[in-house]
Amino acid sequence: MKNMRHIAVDQLVKYLTSDPVKKISKIVSLVQKLDRKHKYSDVMDIIADTLMGESDVWKKFTEDLFREVDTKTLQKLAECFLVNVAFIGGPKRDKIKEKYNCNVPLALLIDPTSACNLNCTGCWAAQYGKQHNLSYDILDSLCQQGRELGIYWFLFSGGEPLIRKTDIIRLCEKYQDCYFFAFTNGTLVDEQLCEDIRRVGNFTLAFSIEGNEANTDMRRGKGCYKRVVEAMDLMKKHKLFFGYSTCYTHYNTESVASDEFVDEMIARGCRFAWNFTYIPIGKDAQLDLIATPEQRAYMYKRVQEIRTTKPLIALDFWNDGETAHGCIAGGRSYLHINAAGDVEPCAFIHYANVNIHNVSLLEALQAPLFQEYKKHQPFNSNPLIPCPLLDNPEILIEMVNNSNAYSTQLDGPEPVEELCSKTVLAAQRWAPVAEKLWEERQQIKKEKEAKAAKR
Ligand code: SF4
Repeated sequence: MKNMRHIAVDQLVKYLTSDPVKKISKIVSLVQKLDRKHKYSDVMDIIADTLMGESDVWKKFTEDLFREVDTKTLQKLAECFLVNVAFIGGPKRDKIKEKYNCNVPLALLIDPTSACNLNCTGCWAAQYGKQHNLSYDILDSLCQQGRELGIYWFLFSGGEPLIRKTDIIRLCEKYQDCYFFAFTNGTLVDEQLCEDIRRVGNFTLAFSIEGNEANTDMRRGKGCYKRVVEAMDLMKKHKLFFGYSTCYTHYNTESVASDEFVDEMIARGCRFAWNFTYIPIGKDAQLDLIATPEQRAYMYKRVQEIRTTKPLIALDFWNDGETAHGCIAGGRSYLHINAAGDVEPCAFIHYANVNIHNVSLLEALQAPLFQEYKKHQPFNSNPLIPCPLLDNPEILIEMVNNSNAYSTQLDGPEPVEELCSKTVLAAQRWAPVAEKLWEERQQIKKEKEAKAAKR
């Protein structure tokens, strides 16, 4: 049942559908005047700088969003994230964190199946086969347990999660106060699914794409680019909210970061982009796919540029350590449950102590490997060196050994020393580049603060 907060948010979104920028600006000015104790001044300043500043990028983003996306979809986004994930979920999670002395995440990433209908180069799912699936009852129980802990955001990866689209839509219908999200190869998106997504309102997709047509088809197979953009066109026609995700490697970094590619994705209707980088996991890992330190630094700078020049919410899973205050895994902000039920700290860390078929979610959060994460986070004082696998492999070895965690690699166990031997060189080469980037970043911040103090 909707409470007063949800109704207020629904009304607000409805009110903003015509001339949103002007109306948001008016609301911000009003809040700034009324907020004598400056309780909301930080948030209001960010909104004011973003929407009323000199750049037109975020004005365009906001206007396009309210004009092109279905109102119910926007209401659900606001209701689930502003009210449930933040206002209702935050205090609940904090209480449990304190009571049980463990991390409680704001999101769960779950693989409903290990099956995939593609065979992408360097993707571990291709080797897993079809043997692992989480039953509807387990998925349902995870949503139920999650909600009790203050978790209202569920993401699906895989395998190809849309192989289970009927079950996912069923969950979206049942848990209308939660938000659902899937990383998909796009091949199973059709008219019926788009109608279902619009009806439930609380489900969005991120389409996996590897840059332009040549790069995408090289990694994912011939014809994949065309199929993904056709699926995007269908989503756009149905006025849905969606985005894309890339995995930048040694071979496609320049393509996924290019103006041509990003502009094309925006024109196709994407509102957000998640950028990941290649991690060499499993026996078929391809070390030549690892991006060079120069490419990673280039991506860091490009994502910052994209944020100020293009109407797109651009995220970089590794290079956003500064915003996220380091690694977000181990239940700090999220955790991963694979298709066999193993509860892992992160989608890229295939080690666990427990399986969700045998323990509750709360018990899983207290598992030794999660406690190790809690104890060691952040893994580096430089937030641009956040990852225990890619950047600080010696710490991952220590944590896995201390906690006696087992390998959950579904195509055959991988000892942690063997895994980390594949990232140690990349970590050594990245560290000096990241230090220089961080120094530059600090300098820019200081200059900005000095300018602001003079005003
Ligand atoms: S373990 Fe690495 S990849 Fe996973 S969230 Fe932490 S920094 Fe990111």
